[in-house]
Amino acid sequence: MKDILDKLGIKSVNAGQSTGQESWEGSGSVLESYSPVDGKLIASVREASREDYDRIIEKATEAFAEWRLVPAPKRGEVVRQIGEQLRSYKRELGTLVSYEMGKSLQEGMGEVQEMIDICDFAVGLSRQLYGLTMHSERPLHRMYEQWHPLGVVGIISAFNFPVAVWSWNSMLAWVCGDVCVWKASEKAPLSSLACQHIIREVLIKNEVPEGVSCLVTGGREVGVWLAEDTRVPLVSATGSTRMGKAVGEAVGRRLGRSLLELGGNNAIIVAPSADLNVAIPGIVFGAVGTAGQRCTSARRLIVHESIYDEVKQRLTKAYAQLRIGNPLDEGNHVGPLIDKQAVEGYLATVEEIRKEGGTFLVVPKVLEGVGYESGCYVAPCIAEVAEQYPIVQHETFAPILYLMKYSTIEEAIEIQNGVPQGLSSALFSLDMRESELFLSHAGSDCGIANVNIGTSGAEIGGAFGGEKDSGGGRESGSDAWRAYMRRQTNTLNFGNALPLAQGIKFEL
Ligand code: NAD
Repeated sequence: MKDILDKLGIKSVNAGQSTGQESWEGSGSVLESYSPVDGKLIASVREASREDYDRIIEKATEAFAEWRLVPAPKRGEVVRQIGEQLRSYKRELGTLVSYEMGKSLQEGMGEVQEMIDICDFAVGLSRQLYGLTMHSERPLHRMYEQWHPLGVVGIISAFNFPVAVWSWNSMLAWVCGDVCVWKASEKAPLSSLACQHIIREVLIKNEVPEGVSCLVTGGREVGVWLAEDTRVPLVSATGSTRMGKAVGEAVGRRLGRSLLELGGNNAIIVAPSADLNVAIPGIVFGAVGTAGQRCTSARRLIVHESIYDEVKQRLTKAYAQLRIGNPLDEGNHVGPLIDKQAVEGYLATVEEIRKEGGTFLVVPKVLEGVGYESGCYVAPCIAEVAEQYPIVQHETFAPILYLMKYSTIEEAIEIQNGVPQGLSSALFSLDMRESELFLSHAGSDCGIANVNIGTSGAEIGGAFGGEKDSGGGRESGSDAWRAYMRRQTNTLNFGNALPLAQGIKFEL
């Protein structure tokens, strides 16, 4: 790890505040980053004080005045070079993400690949920030709309995608002409520092105004500063529903804009016609990938009664083959949870499942002994439950899969939709009518609905986000860029009279 940390510019004590080109330690309290992989201290960083934060926002505001005037394709060229930098640091950054957060090395590298993909997407987008033109009802008038950048975009990110979420936001925001202030998760601060180090060279080489890419290190308090700050017109926040409600309320009070990407409680329906050779790997990856710590992790499995026993049997067999251990060893399928607090959350949910009457098909366990010294490794488990159990309504950020039975597709869709969250959903079926129903207005109420693939693993080309308690924001592909800009309608009179709209006459 030492070589990798050196290459990424991570020292034992780090500067946690940055305006892109310049970094400094900050005068808040010390934040130590421990790896859930082996429990060791990786490095420490100091949090921002309010003065550090204000200095960063001022710098970002100044940078915006310049950056918004750089032509969008030129901003795209900077993002293209950032993508190239990420390509050359893919292994190092992916390894740090894996070690600091605990996801498998392959998933860590996959996360960096997502960053590269969004860079490519944003480069093309930089030449496609289209507005509409309309026909004016008045003669010799032209009417059209333009999209202007918003200003400072505050990005609050969660621990489980410690770097990709920043890139989904910042690459789009930058080509749109905005500047970004990133408050990363306090549970994975070093990954965010590494990103700043990787892109710094590009910012300098291209004479990008200092302040376009800022990092402010800290916990919840810094997130609150961003949410309440009228100098930050858009706050894009990714994390729990609890956090999203607090941020949404604070930003709403000042009539700012928020883009909220929150918790999920994602279900997979397995219909009688499902190809189980496709469905079983999709379910298992969805439930245990990233140790169940993806917002899109499969948490509820709704299986048709006619194939329930077969699905149970195949899942039990598949779970028996899972290897749990150091995520940097590519032979392992499941790494640790983020910290011991997450293990407590897992155990509390297990207890609650038992209390409400659930039984375990695959039993839960906290792993101990050699290789598990961090105390953060848990066994993925499957619980047979009834949809009415209150615990099934909650997202527990751990590899716990709830198994339920259904008899009609309408009933399955009702169970799938019957939770407060609405992020991702999937149906495994070869029946065209069922599939179309699932994707219709009477089908899934989630932001993402898939057929014959699982709930996790979204591509950056599509707009990503959920409904209900999952927040309602959209990031990444499609036309998600509009959230980072303000729309302006322009009417231009090139005649020598002043006709009024709606036929109104005003004679002087
Ligand atoms: P969290 O809500 O504890 O923290 C997320 C971020 O919000 C952190 O940076 C934290 O410091 C900050 N924060 C916390 N309270 C805040 C407040 N009141 N005001 C401002 N900022 C605040 O979440 P976590 O444990 O890091 O991540 C797991 C959660 O994130 C899960 O619920 C998961 O589903 C969700 N998530 C959602 C998506 C998505 O795109 N929908 C993606 C990743 C994670």
